[in-house]
Amino acid sequence: MEIDQLLVIGFIALFAAASGYFQLLKPSGAIAAFLTGMSIWAGFGLKGLFLMGVFFLTSSLLSRYKSKVKEHLGELHEKGSARDWAQVAANGGTAAIAGLAHFISPDPLWIIVLAISIASANADTWASELGVLSRQQPVSIKSFKRVPRGTSGAISGFGTAASAAGSLLIALTGGYLFDEGTSWILSVFLFGVTGSFLDTLFGAYIQAGFKCVRCNLFTEKLTHCTLPTKQVSGFTWINNDVVNFISCLTAAIMGMALYNIL
Ligand SMILES: [Zn+2]
Repeated sequence: MEIDQLLVIGFIALFAAASGYFQLLKPSGAIAAFLTGMSIWAGFGLKGLFLMGVFFLTSSLLSRYKSKVKEHLGELHEKGSARDWAQVAANGGTAAIAGLAHFISPDPLWIIVLAISIASANADTWASELGVLSRQQPVSIKSFKRVPRGTSGAISGFGTAASAAGSLLIALTGGYLFDEGTSWILSVFLFGVTGSFLDTLFGAYIQAGFKCVRCNLFTEKLTHCTLPTKQVSGFTWINNDVVNFISCLTAAIMGMALYNIL
């Protein structure tokens, strides 16, 4: 192995360890981030790592942004802000698969899969991290009623704008890094936004939703008020991570299909 390859592996390991140390990731999340980083580097080199880094840094900073305001929204969510392996796999799994695929059988197709999956993850993270700070309560896409901020399956104007901005940043950065043209950038942008919309759709219709048996709060948590919550909607095994993974993957597959047609 060459010395510069060892340096990159050391850098990925250091980056994962530092993310764990600064509590951006839980230990299982740091290990998953190392494996994801290695796959992306194997397939796409430093450009791929850089693109993933843009997602990781901006979403980590956004989840820290106004974290005090978001703290009480923790009531709704199953997990806190330090990400575990399932959350890393949900957002980076498709990109890691594309990295391995490109390593085994190089094809420009895998670059668009990488970019769309990261654009989708970034769009979704920006939408949820900034959307919860929206002044207006979001509207559920299932009941069309206003629901508390941070509820899965609900949209707001501010969250949608944040989603578009998040996807655009990855599309432009990817286009620059991989020297792609306007139609490539536009495709990545549109499919990234599509992935974020699919996330909302799946969040509303198939993600498991629970209700506290004591205080009647609608939540993603498995326990509330020290009691196990009761499932009131969706499928038991589909949590927010599964929804994130499926929506990134679906957006990437849609992009692949279009790429093959054109
Ligand atoms: Zn309760």
